Amino acid sequence: MKYLLERGVKFSNWERCPCGNLSEMLCICEGVYDSREHDPEGEWFNSHYKVLRCRACEQILILRYTADLDFIDDSEISSHFVEYTREVLYAPTKQRHYSIPHTIADIVAQAEKVVPTSSRAGFILCRAALEQLCKEQAIPETKTNVKGEVEHLDLKKRLNLLLEKEKLSKDLREIMHGIREIGNIFAHDSQAYLPEKISQDEVEILIGLVDYVLNRLYVDKSRTQKAVNELNMLKDKLRLEPKETGASE
Ligand SMILES: [Zn+2]
Repeated sequence: MKYLLERGVKFSNWERCPCGNLSEMLCICEGVYDSREHDPEGEWFNSHYKVLRCRACEQILILRYTADLDFIDDSEISSHFVEYTREVLYAPTKQRHYSIPHTIADIVAQAEKVVPTSSRAGFILCRAALEQLCKEQAIPETKTNVKGEVEHLDLKKRLNLLLEKEKLSKDLREIMHGIREIGNIFAHDSQAYLPEKISQDEVEILIGLVDYVLNRLYVDKSRTQKAVNELNMLKDKLRLEPKETGASE
């Protein structure tokens, strides 16, 4: 993620922790690595490291901001601001809603863990989360065709069965197949070209899309059920209690 910082201004400690807390975190330590101090002839870049602690869950977050100082531009903006690339090197595992099966949540957590080291692995794990989703939803891996032969069902066909079974909307169809297609490129071809532009930001977007699907499939359903239960409880109470409390209409 690109990050513009005014010269002479300190990095903010305001962060959103994966636990959900958005606040000013406690900075445990920070340090700067200036490449020229170690290799005067090499590329000149400056990395600012920060170890922050969330005041709510007390877990730590490690961030790195890197500025490419070889790139000097005379524009007005660069004289006032330095452009940094912000990377999350470590973050605690995000707590997902209890209604999401833990087998799926574990795979998404693994995807989050590999984000700083391998975008490719992150993409593949997002696709794996969809495979696990089909398994949890009892979508079969094979079917017997009209000739009596056992046919293997690929993820595309299994997702279509799931979409049909759950009567899911068209937008969800597009998102689920999109995640599958992106994961396919790297799952089936280990040599697939990974564009240089792909960074942890893109994997985080894909993980966000997986979360969107899980929220629609599990969390929304669970919340709707909870609301219906609350409404029924309320109706029951109102039906029973007016006489007892002597309330008048
Ligand atoms: Zn936290």
